[in-house]
Amino acid sequence: MRTDIQYIKGIGPRKADALKSEAGIETVEDLLYYAPRRYLDRSSFKSIVDCFAGETVTVTGTIRGLSVAGKRGRFLEVVIDDGTDRLSGIFFAGIQYFQKIFLEGSTVIFSGKIDVYRGKRIVHPEYDFIDEDSRVKSIHAGRLIPLYRSTEKLKTLGFDSRGFRRAIRSAIDEYLDEIPEPFDSDMLGRLGLLPLRDALMAIHFPDSIEDVGKARQRLAFNELLFLQVYLRISRMRLQQELSKKKPAIDPGILDSFSGSLPFELTEDQLGAIAQIVGDMERPFPMNRLLQGDVGSGKTVVSMAAALVAAGRGEQTAVMAPTEILAAQHYRNFQALIPGARVIELLTGNMQKNRKAEVLERVKTGECSILIGTHALLESDVVFDRLGFIIIDEQHRFGVRQRALLHEKGEHPDLLVMTATPIPRSLALTLYGDLDITSIRAKPRNRLPVRTLALPESRLSGVYRSVEKYISEGRQAYFVYPIIEESSSIELKSAINAFEILKNDVFPDRRIDLLHGRLPSKDKDDIMRRFIAGEIDILVSTTVIEVGIDVPNATIIVIQHPERFGLSQLHQLRGRVGRGEKQSFCVLVYPDEISAEAKRRIDVLVESDDGFRIAEEDLRMRGSGEFVGFQQHGHGAGFEFADLASDIDIIGLAREEAASIAQHIPDAGKVLKSLIEGAVPAGMPGLLNSLRKRKILSLLS
Ligand code: ADP
Ligand code: MG
Repeated sequence: MRTDIQYIKGIGPRKADALKSEAGIETVEDLLYYAPRRYLDRSSFKSIVDCFAGETVTVTGTIRGLSVAGKRGRFLEVVIDDGTDRLSGIFFAGIQYFQKIFLEGSTVIFSGKIDVYRGKRIVHPEYDFIDEDSRVKSIHAGRLIPLYRSTEKLKTLGFDSRGFRRAIRSAIDEYLDEIPEPFDSDMLGRLGLLPLRDALMAIHFPDSIEDVGKARQRLAFNELLFLQVYLRISRMRLQQELSKKKPAIDPGILDSFSGSLPFELTEDQLGAIAQIVGDMERPFPMNRLLQGDVGSGKTVVSMAAALVAAGRGEQTAVMAPTEILAAQHYRNFQALIPGARVIELLTGNMQKNRKAEVLERVKTGECSILIGTHALLESDVVFDRLGFIIIDEQHRFGVRQRALLHEKGEHPDLLVMTATPIPRSLALTLYGDLDITSIRAKPRNRLPVRTLALPESRLSGVYRSVEKYISEGRQAYFVYPIIEESSSIELKSAINAFEILKNDVFPDRRIDLLHGRLPSKDKDDIMRRFIAGEIDILVSTTVIEVGIDVPNATIIVIQHPERFGLSQLHQLRGRVGRGEKQSFCVLVYPDEISAEAKRRIDVLVESDDGFRIAEEDLRMRGSGEFVGFQQHGHGAGFEFADLASDIDIIGLAREEAASIAQHIPDAGKVLKSLIEGAVPAGMPGLLNSLRKRKILSLLS
């Protein structure tokens, strides 16, 4: 199965190189697991005579002629005929190439949007060919034709969908029988899964869409099981190999800490602290996720833990994604933890002297709690005895950044926190090796934020309400979207809005503007004044999204909510509702908005439950957006599994992984052989036959 792809009929070294560099396909196995991107359903082909302008259709016909036309903008016209009418495919680019592949008399499939201009035509249709190769044809006399991802380069080498189908057909004919089935029939029956070979066959050459579903389920199960087993074994190894005696914990510290707080900790907060401290007492490192909806009070929980660590002589590093948030944590820690000199702040833009001073105190161990941004990751940050790491808003950091900080200590305890509640399905999958603590109940005395969605035409009414709340001593946020690609334009609109709000709408109010491009000193200063109540209205971009905590701010107006993700809106909304007063979130959408966009916004109006919103978001946007996996390209790295809809399969995989892991004597060894791709001793073939290459690269 590790047979090099070049040995498949029709693929030589040159094509093999391209398959490797363009699609990551190196072995026959890789090819068999190359998932079709979608399927064309023959029965949904339209007769050309029934196609009308503006419709998106798939048609098939025989090529009747090719011609190059147009004076300035030359284009290729490919005329096809299906017996009911004619239609042209128009290509402005790649003319020479298309002249070679569209041969008169052959049958093609075109998909795309019809426009009518001296006859029906589709500009740059998606195209495919009906397979004339009899082996392929006979196999899907069925109505579904699989289509594959390809690239320009692969296409010029013959790997359009038809080329893939042929190569995969050869791979199946020659090698499918060699693929081992890792599960016995009992297990397959119990789990209701297709045998692996049947699944691979059906994913490429299905008879029906139901076949595709079943095949995908089986292949997704493989991926998820592999991941779960891997996570479990790594965790076992950690526990087996890293056991060491740790200094004792002084229980008095916690009592005096909670006694010094201006409020009473909630049950959930106390429970979370107990779990975390329990982890610290165990002989192996803590690896825990603390999740709780915005405003649930995670910071104070992490502070208690940091204090406990300091009490036994360990240093703590607290990493936050923005300077504003790091500075806020610094102030909070200072206010709540006596002996302030042991706490330091480190950010990228500090004065050199000050920075050197901090680094020195960290190195000698005088500083027990170091709070900062990404600046903590730099190589000049050296700890004396880093025993505990807290990462706030952890989904803002990548796997590698977490690892970098981790390496600065000797297997330190790790607590990661998130206010973007991770949907259960995703948490189970990605964090099979993490313990999870959830804070569910918010502090007492909180009223739910009241959320309204209003069209822009009602903005003046919104202004009047804001004016009223400010006159009662409250503060307000106005938030504008900022979009990466055209940030300068969007930034201007925040600035424009600021000018209008300041000069025309609220001339008597203290109003200021905050965005990511300001020097950090200014940002800090503005936040400080807003917290101190010296600013009534803060006009801002999404820089306030994470973590900012100003309980006296009770109204947030978000413009263009249709430009934000649901979870992001929920985070923004979480900036208010942090005190005892009734808070409001007003979503101001453009008067002309699609029904779809309005429906999304309404999810937020209807629900205050971050978990529900995150699940909804996951359904709408796919799983790649979560947990710092964006940098890895597609999805969460799975070829077949879909984290949003495969919750049941994830559950199954978890149970199986638990029972498999029970039979592993030496986790370290198994893990090593797994990563190196060898067959782990004692579990012949099982993990090897699961799909793993991509998943491992995600985790490392
Ligand atoms: P998040 O979980 O979103 O990070 P924070 O830790 O910033 O939330 O806490 C939100 C606000 O709630 C802060 O002002 C904090 O001081 C306050 N808070 C935390 N715990 C309690 C509590 N038990 N009772 C009242 N207020 C609390
Ligand atoms: Mg927070």
